[in-house]
Amino acid sequence: MSVEIARHWRLNPQRYQLVGEECPHCGHKMFPPRDVCPECADNSHQPEFKFSGRGEVFSYSTVYNPPEGYEDNAPYTVALVKLEEGPLITAQLTDVRNDDVQIGMPVEMTTRKITTQGDEGLVIYGYKFRPQLAA
Ligand SMILES: [Zn+2]
Repeated sequence: MSVEIARHWRLNPQRYQLVGEECPHCGHKMFPPRDVCPECADNSHQPEFKFSGRGEVFSYSTVYNPPEGYEDNAPYTVALVKLEEGPLITAQLTDVRNDDVQIGMPVEMTTRKITTQGDEGLVIYGYKFRPQLAA
């Protein structure tokens, strides 16, 4: 399975959490937000749903030849993370050696600097996932 690099978003601090939507018809949790529920095709307005940010590694791949702008981080591991609430999202892993990543490893979201772009040094933040700290 191939895994793409997570889309990076410029977020305000108060948005440093995973916000998706919950279908009012069937309760399906969606991330990212979309217009039509993939479970029941309901297209009514879907209220925001804040995800816990916890999940586990569903699959992963280590990137040795990153796209322009990401070279500083290479090699790094990109994982498909299955959230507690069900959705799968793609994100870079952090705070873990690439060799130590395992399928099923519990992870949690954290916000980190993703890259610096352009001559003005625009810093882009986004979410990554790190191993869950022992409770
Ligand atoms: Zn639905």
